[in-house]
Amino acid sequence: MMPAASPAAATTLHTILDRLSDAERPFFLLGEDASPVNAEAIMDGDGVEELGATLDAVIGVLASRLGRGERRLWALAVDSLTNRLLWLGAATGQLGRAQAMAVDLVAALDRPGVPAPRFTTLRDLPEGVRDVWVRRGSCCLVSRVPGHGSCADCPRQTPAEREARLRERALTGGDH
Ligand code: SF4
Repeated sequence: MMPAASPAAATTLHTILDRLSDAERPFFLLGEDASPVNAEAIMDGDGVEELGATLDAVIGVLASRLGRGERRLWALAVDSLTNRLLWLGAATGQLGRAQAMAVDLVAALDRPGVPAPRFTTLRDLPEGVRDVWVRRGSCCLVSRVPGHGSCADCPRQTPAEREARLRERALTGGDH
């Protein structure tokens, strides 16, 4: 069972995300001028060290203040990075490339015990409907914020439930 988190912390995080526009949210972790090109620059080694150092610092502080284990926070970071790269891949018609970039980026970060990105591929979707999604291993606590429902890709669901909800999201045009 995941440890309880402070409702105030969950609300604060959600307040930050709420202040970002839909266009800004995908770049939250990559920097304000991030783009597929910038993501490539990170893969070329330009920024991997800084990204790793930033995550080390943020995760260290959050782990000490929220009482959540660093490995769980790294899992959240990996899922978030992968989610955003897939969003960019879907937006630019390069989902396969985005998948490979996510795997390579986490490998390049080279943090012991940090999980590799995982994916769910939905079968038999109409052409043009996004079929690759993050198979999350982390909980973002959003469902604890008043007024927010549960995540379609919640890892606490059965695989069949998760796939059905992701399929519905894909077919209705949701992006994350
Ligand atoms: S629905 Fe979202 S916030 Fe709630 S437990 Fe699942 S992943 Fe965590």
